[in-house]
Amino acid sequence: MNEVKSPRRPLMWFYGITLAIIILFNLVFRPMVAEAQIKTVDYGTFMTMTEEENIGQVEIRSNQILFTDKAGTQVYKTGPMNDPDLADRLHAAGASFSGEIIEEPNFLLSFLATWVLPMVIFVVIGQVMSRKMMNKMGGGPGAMSFNMGKSNAKIYVKSSGGIKFDDVAGEDEAKENLTEIVDYLHDPKKYTEIGASMPKGILLVGPPGTGKTMLAKAVAGEANVPFFSMSGSEFVEMFVGMGASKVRDLFKQAKEKAPCIVFIDEIDAIGGKRSTGGGMGGHDEREQTLNQLLTEMDGFEGNTGVIILAATNRPESLDPALTRPGRFDRRVPVELPDLAGREAILRVHARKVKVEPGVDFLTIARMASGASGAELANIVNEAALRAVRSGRRSVNQADLEESIEVVIAGYQKKNAILTDREKMIVAYHEVGHALVAARQTNSAPVQKITIVPRTSGALGYTMQVEEGNHYLMSKEEMENKIATYTGGRAAEELAVGSITTGAVNDIEQATRLARAMIARYGMSKEFGMVAFEQVTNQYLGGDASLACSEKTQTEIDRQVVELVKTQYEKAMTILRENQAALHRLAKHLYMNETLTGEEFMGLLNEA
Ligand code: ADP
Repeated sequence: MNEVKSPRRPLMWFYGITLAIIILFNLVFRPMVAEAQIKTVDYGTFMTMTEEENIGQVEIRSNQILFTDKAGTQVYKTGPMNDPDLADRLHAAGASFSGEIIEEPNFLLSFLATWVLPMVIFVVIGQVMSRKMMNKMGGGPGAMSFNMGKSNAKIYVKSSGGIKFDDVAGEDEAKENLTEIVDYLHDPKKYTEIGASMPKGILLVGPPGTGKTMLAKAVAGEANVPFFSMSGSEFVEMFVGMGASKVRDLFKQAKEKAPCIVFIDEIDAIGGKRSTGGGMGGHDEREQTLNQLLTEMDGFEGNTGVIILAATNRPESLDPALTRPGRFDRRVPVELPDLAGREAILRVHARKVKVEPGVDFLTIARMASGASGAELANIVNEAALRAVRSGRRSVNQADLEESIEVVIAGYQKKNAILTDREKMIVAYHEVGHALVAARQTNSAPVQKITIVPRTSGALGYTMQVEEGNHYLMSKEEMENKIATYTGGRAAEELAVGSITTGAVNDIEQATRLARAMIARYGMSKEFGMVAFEQVTNQYLGGDASLACSEKTQTEIDRQVVELVKTQYEKAMTILRENQAALHRLAKHLYMNETLTGEEFMGLLNEA
């Protein structure tokens, strides 16, 4: 890795050169200029001027006589002569021959003007320049100029206004995950005594504005430790090598201040997958920075008390080296808030503004479906602005409702929040899966169903419960699974009357399973125990290759289609038989956006 020159050096050079110029100017140029202005005359002229009484000041030196005319406009110089009564004559001519230096009438003033003032000016210029450079490098306006060699890691030492977990509304799962870190920072001995070491790096994964930065700050706030924060993009802005040196500095500072939290926002800016071929210059810089980060993370022990939190909304784009054990090996999802979460976030932010009593936050939360925490904060602020605009002293329901449109309308284009109809379809879809699964096994098929869009891009999500370890799967179980996959689409068809692209994933899964049953697991009546499909590289993703005649292939395809169709029909029948429950569950999911396993079973079995 290239050693990077400290950026403080240019500044020291600047000051050094400036000082040299000032010294040179005062000691060499100024006397030279002054010398050039002195007119050399012969002794006769001096005598004549004395006689004519056209003489002002005179300074008699051992090797020369300096004098001015009466008006003092010109300085003259002549060689000294053996002239014993010169003093008398000068006196008679009314000259002042005080032996003082003629051209330095006020020593202090001239010292200030020639030495001090230029230095002050150059120091100020130097400061301004360095500040500009700092800003370019991503430092805040408060960054100190003499701190240039250091990274711009801002240090937030917990103050009374420090963020706590209570300030982060919703996100209970993320908070629960992070509580352990806080506990460790409070009492590391408890962990080290037993030999446990904390993960060095934790990845906060979620869409922008969901409170990842807040959570990181809250961990520092709760644990009462310093908080270093830096954004991934800040590392790669400057020249090659700069990012790596910033990483080094950041960790150096952090280790000095341990225990502490280091927060790297947008880690994908440096932690993206490294290119295999030789990259362009920009890539080199990013790779160097990433390598340095990896080196630093490997370099300290898990128990030094430095915990690195990093945020990203594109975890899949991260270099696998970053997520390896011993680095960012723990992942905490920070998803968009559900209805209850949104209400809580609105309430947290409403504490900061005056709100009329009786404002219904739940309604607002319901209207702002799909909004992130940052947008909800913005909605409250917009509402307060609207109240001021209309001359009121507190925020009312209408203000909030209006600002949803202001905030979300702009947002909708960017991020496509689900429309009400879409939300309804997604609700039916997810309930469809769960209901078909539940009716086939007679147990709660899910831990949680949600229709809050996920980071992965899924519009809804059903968290399955795996009942114990499954090493064997029966034919019926596999068929049931296919039926469950098709349940989403079936529910759409049954309840909404049209089908959507939402089932794309289910279709893939169902097809893969059906094909495997027929071509690999020997579960087809017609073929019996014959494997047409071989899987190579089982541990590396598995490439399936078909080895059969064209005719057989057509037959396999036909059977796959039939199998999936049959299961789709089965799912449809189940849903028809449970239509009331389907509507009840979908409505509940639509309203509340999440359903737990118990809620699901409760509603399903409601008569
Ligand atoms: P991220 O880092 O995920 O992009 P931030 O933590 O920077 O998001 O959040 C931006 C702002 O949004 C915060 O300053 C806060 O006002 C608001 N916010 C986001 N999530 C929450 C939450 N769960 N509770 C309260 N406020 C939130």
